[in-house]
Amino acid sequence: MAQSSKHHNLIAVFGDQLSEDIHALRLGDRDKDLILMAEVMDEATYAHHHKKKLAFVFSAMRHFAEKLSADGWTVRYIKLDNPKNTGSLAGEIERALTELKISSLLYTEASEYRVTSELNKWATTFGLTPKILPDDRFIVSKEEFSVWASGRKQLRMEHFYREVRRKTNILMDDGAPVGGKWNFDTENRSRAPNELTFRGPRPVQPDHITQEVLELVERVFPRNIGILTPFSYAVTRNDALQALDDFVKYSLPNFGTYQDAMLEGEAFLFHSVLSQYINFGLLQPLEVCLAAEAAWRSGEAPINSVEGFIRQIIGWREFIRGIYWIKMPGYTDNNFLDATRSLPNFYWDGNTEMSCLRAAISQTLEHSYAHHIQRLMVTGNFAMLAGINPVEVHHWYLSVYADALEWVEAPNVIGMSQFADGGVFATKPYAASGNYINKMSNHCADCRFNVKIKTGDGACPFNSLYWDFIQRNTEKLTGNARLGNVYRTWSKMSAEKQNAYIDTAGDFLDKL
Ligand code: FAD
Ligand code: SF4
Repeated sequence: MAQSSKHHNLIAVFGDQLSEDIHALRLGDRDKDLILMAEVMDEATYAHHHKKKLAFVFSAMRHFAEKLSADGWTVRYIKLDNPKNTGSLAGEIERALTELKISSLLYTEASEYRVTSELNKWATTFGLTPKILPDDRFIVSKEEFSVWASGRKQLRMEHFYREVRRKTNILMDDGAPVGGKWNFDTENRSRAPNELTFRGPRPVQPDHITQEVLELVERVFPRNIGILTPFSYAVTRNDALQALDDFVKYSLPNFGTYQDAMLEGEAFLFHSVLSQYINFGLLQPLEVCLAAEAAWRSGEAPINSVEGFIRQIIGWREFIRGIYWIKMPGYTDNNFLDATRSLPNFYWDGNTEMSCLRAAISQTLEHSYAHHIQRLMVTGNFAMLAGINPVEVHHWYLSVYADALEWVEAPNVIGMSQFADGGVFATKPYAASGNYINKMSNHCADCRFNVKIKTGDGACPFNSLYWDFIQRNTEKLTGNARLGNVYRTWSKMSAEKQNAYIDTAGDFLDKL
């Protein structure tokens, strides 16, 4: 390997580490070290990424590199269409080390197993021992989570969440949860009336860097899914901070009450639309939670909203990341329910007569966004009921959402939504008939199917698919205590009724 350079360390900064506070930059020396950032084909193509997701990541990376240069760092930035680009992170690291004669490599650990193992393999072959620093943007380290999880019979988010509340002292007064309880979820299940108005995420006008990226994405990835323009996501920390301010001021007060609601034509409702900014480093999870807590302490937002929002971040987000790392590798291959059907084409174009699915998928194609209940109870629920192969479902979610990185997507899909891990952390499958969707949305009013009809022509497909799912998986699920009532109801049904459900579901699935 080449020796002696004017640069001390090569600091590799990956596309989801766009924070000046990232561990490797805190330790680096801006006078002596050189930063490498690279847009590489391997990362752009390991999933069939939505065009908006690609544009968001590349533009945010380019803006971040500019900021670092302005702050006095030396940055080597390799664009996707640079003719010398090797197409892989390892390739670009090796090229930089060799061309610049640097012998020491430093980076913050990669967030995904795939990248971690690729870099480890490369370093061994190259004969280098990089200095790899833990990603301390997370509140709970991998090791802490592993200690918490070891020896527990059940991994429950709620137990973990309480410990993180104590650790961070968020929404705590004198060691006790504010408002006298840990969780206000029972107040967070209202249907949204049609007359509500929503501010939605604060739009950002694309600047010349984003314009250049939009042109690149259209040119290099013309066949990828999704609508590229108008593009209005934040791509800098400043704009992401403004999006956070806007959310806290205008949407957080109603976030909790309507957290599970869905409305035709409304993609965002009172959701924050901050996940991609948090996941890619523009915002820190803790600062987002502190901003929400401050709104409660100053009386600007009620406790059910603020606690509900904070739980998603210091509870679910941290928990999901912990699960990923204790279960990888192999977690994404789980198929507990032996689901083998192919993902229907309408997941890629939204062309279905089922209004709820059409709404969730169309807005996904438009914005690279859907909120949690759409992901869990519409697209996820349908895929599980229909017995779609979880690997294909996993690939779809990883592709279509701007916030999708495997560490957060996979446990949400394989575990929470598809129950393909057999219940590592979900107490039962999130399976529901059309009744749930009708209760939480207005989609059914405008659907070619009738949610009140259970079987036969015109019946809502979720109704028969639900019972078909229950029946099909009797052997695997009948022992689940939380499904006891469901199986009792099924067994009390007449054979004629049971057969009507199974036949209706069978007819529907044959035509999928
Ligand atoms: P809000 O509703 O405003 O919630 C606030 C924040 O809480 C989010 O920004 C996010 O950071 C965090 N959060 C909420 N729920 C979760 C969760 N279950 N896991 C992790 N963080 C959570 N989230 C991703 O960030 N990337 C994914 O690829 C992803 N895939 C998902 C797939 C499925 C099947 C399901 C059911 C959920 C998935 N989620 C994923 C979690 C959640 O749906 C999104 O974080 C959320 O919809 C993002 O929108 P928002 O920022 O408006 O969130
Ligand atoms: Fe969805 Fe069924 Fe309602 Fe149609 S009737 S919107 S398919 S739940």
